[in-house]
Formats: sequence, structure tokens, C-alpha cells
Amino acid sequence: MTDTFHKSGPRKVGQVKEVTSLSNPIIKDIKALTNKKDREETGTFMAEGLKLVIDALELGWEIRTLVYAKAAKGKPLVEQVATKTVAHGGLVLEVSEKVLSSITRRDNPQMVVGIFEQRWKRLDELRPEKGDTFVALDRVRDPGNLGTIIRTADAAGASATILVGECTDPFSLETVRATMGSVFAMPVVRCTAEEFLAWHKRSGAYVVATHLAGAIDYRKVEYATKPVVILMGNEQSGLPDNLAKDADRTVRIPQEGRADSLNLGVATAVMLFEARRDLLILDDRK
Ligand code: SAM
Repeated sequence: MTDTFHKSGPRKVGQVKEVTSLSNPIIKDIKALTNKKDREETGTFMAEGLKLVIDALELGWEIRTLVYAKAAKGKPLVEQVATKTVAHGGLVLEVSEKVLSSITRRDNPQMVVGIFEQRWKRLDELRPEKGDTFVALDRVRDPGNLGTIIRTADAAGASATILVGECTDPFSLETVRATMGSVFAMPVVRCTAEEFLAWHKRSGAYVVATHLAGAIDYRKVEYATKPVVILMGNEQSGLPDNLAKDADRTVRIPQEGRADSLNLGVATAVMLFEARRDLLILDDRK
């Protein structure tokens, strides 16, 4: 890894470089961010697209490197983000389309890519209050599901997404793509199942677990009187007993037809919008 990415190492301030070679060491480092190990080591991740980069900078995310295609040079918005990157001590790379394709592994890549510092929220930083809705995911495996859920949680007005146990990485390229930018708006927490159970005890949050064998119809639960955590199970095995038994309610979404279960992302969306609808009804009554 070059010094461009190391958190503690020196950072070359405000450089603008032209790169056309795929074997350039900085490009190799950026490409290595497709590996979880390299993302963790550097504490960084990649986001594609000018709109996403602008949104991220507006929300105060720290940019380390901006990469843009030669063809985008001189476009006012690209120049603006390049200036901001330099002002924050980041590196700006002007690259050929071939280099951009190899970074993003796409034939028709976006014109702009940003390398940002990862941000995690700690579980003890979450102070649930009435009106808050959280989504907790037990061992979510599929990056597309996680990205869709982060996007949906953002759209539903949830306060944070909690990753319980060994989950797929919210900062992988595939997950970030699926969030459509919501990764920059939705706080993400990671914890073990034991930490989640302990937090449940002390936080006062009301945990509604979803389970195919849930005793209660999900529409019969009162979501609006306490801060709520919607707890979702793993794609293959569902919720383990220790998490299901600890929940304040275990609910099912009634189904018809031959399908065994709903897709995790779809079930989470149904739950989140029902919980938020309940809050809106309560607000309307005031
Ligand atoms: N074979 C798994 C099982 O036995 O639970 C199916 C898991 S399902 C694909 C993934 C998660 O979505 C479940 O753990 C649950 O949280 C949620 N889910 C899917 N369909 C549901 C339904 N009809 N009612 C309640 N939760 C559901």
C-alpha cells in the first residue's frame, strides 16, 4: 500500500496526478479495495458516481482520493469536487477510461469515483428515543440485500442499521452500489449477538423480531409508543433461538401461495414501513 491510504502515515497534500498505466501503484491500491482485508487495513472504501461523491462531501465524509475520467475534466461540478478534495488534503487522479473501467470492474464506468474513510457508529452511541426506529440484521450475508436494506431504512426514516454477528461488509463495492448513496446517510453499527442482547436490556428499546413461526401478525403490534428495533434473521437459517427468545415480540408476516418465506430485503421493507406508518397515525391523532 502506498502512503495515500494509510490512516496514520503521511498523506501527500493536494496533489493532482494524471495516470494512464494500470500498473501504477496507487491504482493497484485502489483496485485492492475490492478486498475486505484491504478495506479494513486502510479504513477506506470506494463509491462511484459524481452525485454520490457530492452528497458524501456535503454530509461531511472524509475523502482520501478522487478519481475522474479525462473526459470529465473541465466540467464545473467535477472541478468543484476536485477543489474540495485538494482542500481536504486528498489526492486527485485524472485517469484514462481504461483505468477507470479496471478500478470499477465495469465496461461503462461512472466518470467519477471517490475513496472515502469508513465510518462506524458504536452501539453505546445509540440513545433510542420514542419515535426512533432501528433495523437490526442477524448475520446478513448477501451484499445486495444489505445495500437494499440500508437504502430502505434511509427512505423509511430509520435512525440506524445494526449489524449483529458476522455480516457482509456495508462498504463493499456491491453493497455501496445497492445503497444508491444511502450508505452516507444511514449510521451503521456492528456488534456481537451478546453485545446486542446487553444493549437491549439497558437501552429501553422495544425489540420486534420477525420469524416464520412468529405468534403475532406484524400488523397487531404497537410500534409507536417506544423506540423500536426491527430484528431480522439470516437469509438461510433465520433468527437463532437466543435472539428470538430475548425479543419483546416475535411476529410473522402472513403469506399465501407456495413461497416458504419472503426475501430478507422485502420482509424488512414491509416491517419498516408498517412501524413508521404506526408512528404517523399516532402523530395525526395529536
Ligand atoms: N429459511 C429461513 C427461516 O427458516 O427462517 C428463511 C429466512 S428468510 C429468507 C430471512 C428473514 O426474513 C427471516 O429470518 C425473517 O426475519 C424474515 N422473513 C421473511 N419472511 C417472513 C415472514 N413471512 N414473516 C416474518 N419474517 C419473515
